[in-house]
Amino acid sequence: MDEIIKLLDLNLNYLYHEIHEDTLYIFIESTLSAVPCPFCDTPFSKKHSSYQRIFQDLPIQGKKVEIIIQNRKIFCLNENCTQRTFSERFTFLNNKSKKTKRLEEEIIRLSLHCSSVTAAKHLSKHTVKVGKSTICNL
Ligand SMILES: [Zn+2]
Repeated sequence: MDEIIKLLDLNLNYLYHEIHEDTLYIFIESTLSAVPCPFCDTPFSKKHSSYQRIFQDLPIQGKKVEIIIQNRKIFCLNENCTQRTFSERFTFLNNKSKKTKRLEEEIIRLSLHCSSVTAAKHLSKHTVKVGKSTICNL
């Protein structure tokens, strides 16, 4: 499972997983020691707090996948920066998105040849919980 998680980002560690009905929940952590501030690009490591972030990824073995991480908030100690704290960001996830980029690409691919209503029904059954408005937005 760790290898699958590292396909997203080499700085992620697999912790454990649970299966509930049709969904696989994978718990992970980031091991990046110094995180670059998205506003001034300077790396810092002093932790402010953390919060649980959940996002969906591509299905595995017919199970929908939800990944859970304790997303760190870090102090930016650069006196010239406009921000005092920032959240760790990931290249595989658009800011504030609840789906990985590769999952969003898959949703777009599967939705190109049918209506958003049909695509939403099909995707919700087999791949990911998704509404037709999300498909239209993508
Ligand atoms: Zn900064």
